[in-house]
Amino acid sequence: MAWASGFDAFFNNFKRESKIIDEEAIALIKAYIEKNQLQEAVSVIENALRGIESAPLNIAVTGETGTGKSTFINALRGVGQEEDSAAPTGVVETTMERTPYPHTKLPNVTIWDLPGIGSTTFTPQNYLTEMKFGEYDFFIIISATRFKENDAQLAKAIAEMEMNFYFVRTKIDNDLGNEQKSKPKTFNKGKVLEKIRNDCSEHLQKVLFSQPPVFLVSNFDMSDYDFPELETKLLQDLPAHKRHIFSLCLQSLTEATINYKRDSLKQKVFLEAIKAGAIATIPLGGMISEDIEDLEETFHLYRSYFGLDDASLENIAKDYNMSVNHFKVHLRFPHLFAESNDESLEEKLSKYIKQISSVTGGPVATVVYYQRAYYLQNLFLDTAANDAIALLNNKELFENKVGQYISKPLVYWE
Ligand code: GDP
Repeated sequence: MAWASGFDAFFNNFKRESKIIDEEAIALIKAYIEKNQLQEAVSVIENALRGIESAPLNIAVTGETGTGKSTFINALRGVGQEEDSAAPTGVVETTMERTPYPHTKLPNVTIWDLPGIGSTTFTPQNYLTEMKFGEYDFFIIISATRFKENDAQLAKAIAEMEMNFYFVRTKIDNDLGNEQKSKPKTFNKGKVLEKIRNDCSEHLQKVLFSQPPVFLVSNFDMSDYDFPELETKLLQDLPAHKRHIFSLCLQSLTEATINYKRDSLKQKVFLEAIKAGAIATIPLGGMISEDIEDLEETFHLYRSYFGLDDASLENIAKDYNMSVNHFKVHLRFPHLFAESNDESLEEKLSKYIKQISSVTGGPVATVVYYQRAYYLQNLFLDTAANDAIALLNNKELFENKVGQYISKPLVYWE
């Protein structure tokens, strides 16, 4: 079938670390489509989608008391330190057991708070057995200020179990602040960071005989320092079917993260459309109101994934001491369904279909062309992702120019 090549061409648009389906499955689906064995193709797609949707993600975070482990866990879960469900911060650890923290929006994701190995009497091997090491997708070892030999021993034991660990050094903002205060004339941010990184790496190398990457972070600013690199590395290392859930679990703090989420959801929507399109071609008709209602649900979900749900917007408004309506008018999503708008949703959609078809074009577009749902989902997805980016870019504006924001139009994507 002619559109088989369009199928894998679609996935070529995405970087390796964004792909939510592995190359073998893509090749297999393509081969089935070529041979016109659509039932077989659909069954591989169904399997892949099932794997993506049901993939559990268990992240182990270990580190000594006071290193910022709880703050890191809360930041990863997108939970404010003062919220009820937050991992308690600033308290001395007394438990020798792991504590599960479910992700607030994604029930399949659990972040496990493991007691620091130094506060237990276990050897690294026993520690891993006690902590049920086989249940995690990867380990994050948190350290701050002084390097602990225990952490290196633990890293070694994890590596021996052939599991992935990532070494995270927190409170970088403190280190930089202190250096700047003590050496105001010679202070060089890059050099300070390099020194800390090398120091951690050398300690680890002594025990591991290899140099694992060390990620320097500030839990108070996860969009800065090495946190974005850590996200990319984790996405690269995870099996393809787990990337979707992991990308959704990341906070929309950088443009790169927002695009990971967009890419991931685009592939999922595409696989669903091909699955439906390969079975039956739905004729293009007028917009059916029930369709729209169903899709509005999807849209609410996208808003929440990109941090544009009402609760998230309220939080941002509170942070900047402004009313939600002041920045909401500049975002596009609130106007999507508004009937009073000049353009109806149907008109917007038909424009979008033309635009997206001219970009993706080709035979695959003709298969999904008749599926309004496919285009609507993409329209919603792009609107939410672009609004999230607009919000991110404008946060800087809010920070620097509080008071002037009302008269200034917000910078928006085009
Ligand atoms: P835990 O005992 O390892 O769980 O550490 P907490 O998360 O409770 O943090 C201990 C203290 O360090 C708290 O006062 C946090 O606010 C503070 N903290 C945590 N992470 C950072 C960070 O990246 N930078 C700075 N400056 N302080 C941090």
